[in-house]
Amino acid sequence: MPAGPLARRVSRRVAVSWGSRTVHVGGGAPVVVQSMTNTDTADAIATAIQVKALAQAGSEVVRITVNTPEAAREVAAIREQLDRMGVDAPLVGDFHYNGHKLLTQYPECARALSKYRINPGNVGAGSRRDGNFAQMIEVANLHAKPVRIGVNWGSLDQSVLARMMDENARRARPWEASQVMREALVVSAIESAKLAESLGMPGDRIILSAKVSNVQDVVAVYRELARRCDYPLHVGLTEAGMGSKGIVASTAALSVLLQEGIGDTIRVSLTPEPGGDRTREVIVAQEILQTMGLRAFTPLVIACPGCGRTSSTFFQELAESIQSFLRSQMPVWKASYPGVESMQVAVMGCVVNGPGESKHADVGISLPGADEAPVAPVFVDGERTVTLKGDRIAEEFQAIVEAYVHRRYGRLVAAADPSA
Ligand code: SF4
Repeated sequence: MPAGPLARRVSRRVAVSWGSRTVHVGGGAPVVVQSMTNTDTADAIATAIQVKALAQAGSEVVRITVNTPEAAREVAAIREQLDRMGVDAPLVGDFHYNGHKLLTQYPECARALSKYRINPGNVGAGSRRDGNFAQMIEVANLHAKPVRIGVNWGSLDQSVLARMMDENARRARPWEASQVMREALVVSAIESAKLAESLGMPGDRIILSAKVSNVQDVVAVYRELARRCDYPLHVGLTEAGMGSKGIVASTAALSVLLQEGIGDTIRVSLTPEPGGDRTREVIVAQEILQTMGLRAFTPLVIACPGCGRTSSTFFQELAESIQSFLRSQMPVWKASYPGVESMQVAVMGCVVNGPGESKHADVGISLPGADEAPVAPVFVDGERTVTLKGDRIAEEFQAIVEAYVHRRYGRLVAAADPSA
């Protein structure tokens, strides 16, 4: 029985660059996490602040909408502001309807972006369609920028859909409507990519996506794309939804595909709750990859769900505060303590599974249950070390975790640098 994900699908590798930073998509590179802002791009300061927050949360590429002349005019300023703040995440411009005009009329915008997203379903209708598409590819070629050809069920190229329906009507056994729709998505993406190549765009500057909001459709469409082409695939569910529904739907779809080796970059399209934090979509994407064992970003806290044996909410609060602490330390720890992102910390609510689970983690604490003595044994590398009690258990446990990080992962830095 296979113990992990199947082999990654073989694809071309696309470089998405800004300055000295290059993010590789496909070709065996680690699956890239990306996200998208929800600010008005014409508001350069608000957009730069949100891009920075997303990048600091771990988004390796950030997409911004470029929908109006006002937005296009501000893209270079956003890039400059990010450079001043030391944020080197490549920016992707999301274009619909007027991308051909904006990219042509605002060359600074075209230069400041590291990739263009083109939706072949809304570049124009009829005879204008191919001309507008060609104009965007021409700008991308001029600036040596990669593109994502991003097909979406909500804005599917109607001419492709009509052609697929005609073909279906001629079949002896016509397909179901959903199968025709899936085929139209796949055909639209691949035909557009081939058209871009015929216009001079190198094949290793093209990424494809074909998003739908239904899990089974996304899985079927991406399996087909993976079978029929070798462009890297940007995978995600469009309009995944709010709260737990959005997270569950995205996780279900992405897990199936990633397990099959399909997917070179992912985005989790969550609808934020009012006042919610946009970085949630980055954290969810990272957690999907990390829990599947595909990448490691932040030490994970293993915590039991709690039950009638837990005497208070203390262990939930401790689990939460330790996870927040670990996440907040990562921007600094990433550079100083290589490998720390794979560390596991256990916070358990009672003696039933507490010591056992804590022993399997790098550092673990087993808090006292309702009828147990008010003491909390701590385990480090599987060995019981100290027993904490009193009012300062949280602070003392955090200090133990910090000391462990320094001792275990700091040693790797010292070993790698003989002068240290
Ligand atoms: S470890 Fe203890 S408190 Fe936690 S779920 Fe299991 S029995 Fe309940």
